[in-house]
Amino acid sequence: MSDSYDLVVIGAGSGGVRAARIASGHGARVAIVEEYRVGGTCVIRGCVPKKLFVYASRFRDLFEIAPSFGWTVDSRFDWPTLLANKDKEIERLERAYLSGLEGAKVEVIRDRATLTGPNAVRLEQAGRTLEARHILIATGGRPFVPDIPGRELGITSNEAFHLPTLPRSILIEGGGYVAVEFATIFNGLGVDTTLVYRGERVLRGFDEDLREGLEAGLQSRGIRIIYQTSIRALREVDDGVVASFSDGVDAPFGAVMFATGRVPNVKGLGLEAAGVALDEGGAIAVDAYSATNVPSIYAVGDVTNRAQLTPVAIREGHAFADTVFGNKPVAVDHSLIGTAVFAEPELASVGLNEADAATHGDVDVYIARFRPMQNTLSLSSERMLMKLITLKDGGKVLGVHVLGPGAAEIVQMATIPMAMGATKADFDRAMAMHPTAAEELVTFKAPTHRYRDCIRV
Ligand SMILES: Cc1cc2nc3c(=O)[nH]c(=O)nc-3n(C[C@H](O)[C@H](O)[C@H](O)COP(=O)(O)OP(=O)(O)OC[C@H]3O[C@@H](n4cnc5c(N)ncnc54)[C@H](O)[C@@H]3O)c2cc1C
Repeated sequence: MSDSYDLVVIGAGSGGVRAARIASGHGARVAIVEEYRVGGTCVIRGCVPKKLFVYASRFRDLFEIAPSFGWTVDSRFDWPTLLANKDKEIERLERAYLSGLEGAKVEVIRDRATLTGPNAVRLEQAGRTLEARHILIATGGRPFVPDIPGRELGITSNEAFHLPTLPRSILIEGGGYVAVEFATIFNGLGVDTTLVYRGERVLRGFDEDLREGLEAGLQSRGIRIIYQTSIRALREVDDGVVASFSDGVDAPFGAVMFATGRVPNVKGLGLEAAGVALDEGGAIAVDAYSATNVPSIYAVGDVTNRAQLTPVAIREGHAFADTVFGNKPVAVDHSLIGTAVFAEPELASVGLNEADAATHGDVDVYIARFRPMQNTLSLSSERMLMKLITLKDGGKVLGVHVLGPGAAEIVQMATIPMAMGATKADFDRAMAMHPTAAEELVTFKAPTHRYRDCIRV
């Protein structure tokens, strides 16, 4: 067979796999090149293993309330068992991705790919060059690690999925969702956990009430949070690592993890050879159809840094394939993206936070704070928070924000009416389902601006 393709995709992650399968379905001859494992970040070392770890960590909260429901639990945790079962599930998913590609007649090539021109992809190990009518760059991102002395002593989320033993204590640097989720995971599994963040509160950009509630939830579970501080240096000691902080303090930890953001995977990709332009943040610059400045080359997913989320990469990959090979131009709408943080407590949001919504005109804010029913028999006083933000004029729903059990599942469904432009009256027309937490979203009566006014016990 010749080495000439209609499409060569670089990177078999969320965006690349979807694009390859859809393009092949449109009749294109497609090859996909992957240097590590098929499935990409989400499947191999992102969303999926993370959520499995989150499930593992949540048993601790459940064991705590179990006696109030009459259960006596003798609980012990075994890290190697979790690792082995997680690895088995990831291998199963990788095989499923691979057979999905093969079933779609996509040629899967295990190699590192670089661009050598607008229509040429070089396979580094095989030492041959593929000719491509179109090239899709879907190489994702990688963890950013600050350039400080001893940085090599820290781990990132990549290594956190493979630690041979659980450390006695861990210091996590960062304030984004990966930092917060891993703090929850380690804490739930019994590791003494400290979060250090240079900002003033975790989860910048999320609604302030959710941020405040999450912070309280993390602290009540024993996670130590140090704000407005960063790690200046790391040094190795017998039983771990000593971190030197920007405030002059030195402290020892069993392990240190950097969750300080992710950068687009563009290094050594040959973008210069092909003439592909980057934006000011170092991501590949694309238009609404994921086209780069080079007519034969497109890019989707984290490497374009539009929204670093799996469903977004998938949607962009699908839209690219429909546009270029399906004769159906599709521009992805990035204006309404729901997002969840699988911490403890969990939180999720779609639409505008209160501060941003207020810049769109006069708004009404509806807030309910209550103990989730699961906690009512126990001593747990943690409250759930449901928040709806609407335009005063006409009642259009601008934002839905939930903190507490099942937040992501609830908000996922709220994205549908939001995408349809629903109003408060539309939410009110929905019959409540009882007893649920989500019924609060369709039974709000009067707006409130201060949730302490509307605490329900
Ligand atoms: C810890 C963690 C948790 C996350 N949790 C969530 C979550 O809960 N929900 C969510 O929506 N998103 C989550 N994400 C983000 C999500 O994983 C990414 O947004 C998504 O994987 C991006 O898909 P992609 O196709 O752009 O790239 P990726 O999935 O990263 O795939 C890129 C692929 O390209 C390969 N590659 C790179 N360079 C080359 C090359 N030169 N040659 C060949 N192959 C190459 C890589 O090996 C990789 O397999 C998480 C990420 C992390 C790190």
